Amino acid sequence: MGLRSLPRPAIAYILVFELVTLVATGVALLGDRHTSEVDWQRFAALALAGAVHLWLSRRVEETRRATRSGPHFDTSVVWVLPAMVMLPAWMAVLSLLLLRVQLYPVARRPLYRYTFGTAGILLPALASLAVVRLAGLDVLDRLTPVDLLVLLAAAAVHFFLNAGAIAGVIALSSSRPTRTEVVGSRRDNAMAAVTMFVGVLVALAVAHAWAAPLLVVPLLCALDWGVLQIETLRGDSRTDEKTDLLNSRGWHEQVDREFVRARRRGSSVAVAVLDLDHFKVVNDTWGHPAGDAVLRAVATVLHHTTRQGDIVGRFGGEEFVLLLPDTDAPQAAVVAERVRQGIAAMIVPATDKRGNPVAIDARTTSIGVAAAPAPTTTLESLLRQADAAVYEAKSTGRNRVRMAP
Ligand code: GH3
Ligand code: MG
Ligand code: MG
Repeated sequence: MGLRSLPRPAIAYILVFELVTLVATGVALLGDRHTSEVDWQRFAALALAGAVHLWLSRRVEETRRATRSGPHFDTSVVWVLPAMVMLPAWMAVLSLLLLRVQLYPVARRPLYRYTFGTAGILLPALASLAVVRLAGLDVLDRLTPVDLLVLLAAAAVHFFLNAGAIAGVIALSSSRPTRTEVVGSRRDNAMAAVTMFVGVLVALAVAHAWAAPLLVVPLLCALDWGVLQIETLRGDSRTDEKTDLLNSRGWHEQVDREFVRARRRGSSVAVAVLDLDHFKVVNDTWGHPAGDAVLRAVATVLHHTTRQGDIVGRFGGEEFVLLLPDTDAPQAAVVAERVRQGIAAMIVPATDKRGNPVAIDARTTSIGVAAAPAPTTTLESLLRQADAAVYEAKSTGRNRVRMAP
């Protein structure tokens, strides 16, 4: 998706914002103070610390970006605020751009979004620089209570302008934005606020020891790794052990996010509910372990017969659910039919109740499908319709796909 796929007001907003950022950068550079030797030391320490931190926490950052919806706050801002407070403007801007260049491969965002994201940090950063300069802040000798207030104000200006910049573009790009989409979740905002405070702390430390940023890196990495651990644990509680598919919770979470995207794009979404036919017979004939082998084989078929972005889940039992983004009813019918045939063609190696090898084949499935444009429907409604369609498929002979009316 390129810039042009956005609504006109959003494009205008982005272009004006970037232009203002360019002008502000020019103004800051023109009125710059001279560069001293200690500036170079601080610049080098901040740039090095930032690079090491980004490199060590890249996995966490990737995970965070892949699993969150809504605006994104990144921790590199810890290095931006001290640069704005301590360094000449040209060095501060350069260190911000250096960080952004390094973050680009991790972020995996379209270039236009990344450019806007950069402006969305740079302009607030320049505003924090302006606060510090206008107040004549000099934290080099002794920190007065007023100095501290100025520093915190600079951080707050950065925080709110950055959040506002992103909120603006999301509100203008989306037809019916939710509150969380625009302003972010509480946890995200808390994270962003914490990073701002760490930024203030690093700025104070840099004023007294140029090497301070390097000593903060391990602490930040510990924080990032802790976050990753938590995310990983949450991941485990989102998958079904038997089949490695998403469980109900994991499926609903991913689907909720997809729904938000689909609403924004106004695209159609489809839900397919599958119920294996006469599955009890498998258990009764060959035993439960054989039944489990069939369930795993079905999961494999679902993987192979669906697309990358489709969301496949098992809520327990012998029922599976698919969410198909950007899919209308006729397309969903094709997918469901492919799944049905894939399952019918399975030959599952297993062992019977006596431990003898058996090959279980000719298993059939009933599938119910419902599709609608995302802005006009809800997940609950699609699931209900697809469930009713499965029931129809069962009562009209099984081994078939039924579309919801
Ligand atoms: P139909 O859906 O065609 O009406 O018949 P069915 O036999 O599939 O019907 P029903 O939904 O009543 O039975 C589901 C069976 O699936 C009952 C249960 O023993 C079995 N089952 C549910 N979960 C598991 C599981 O995790 N492993 C195994 N092996 N069997 C399971
Ligand atoms: Mg069932
Ligand atoms: Mg069944």
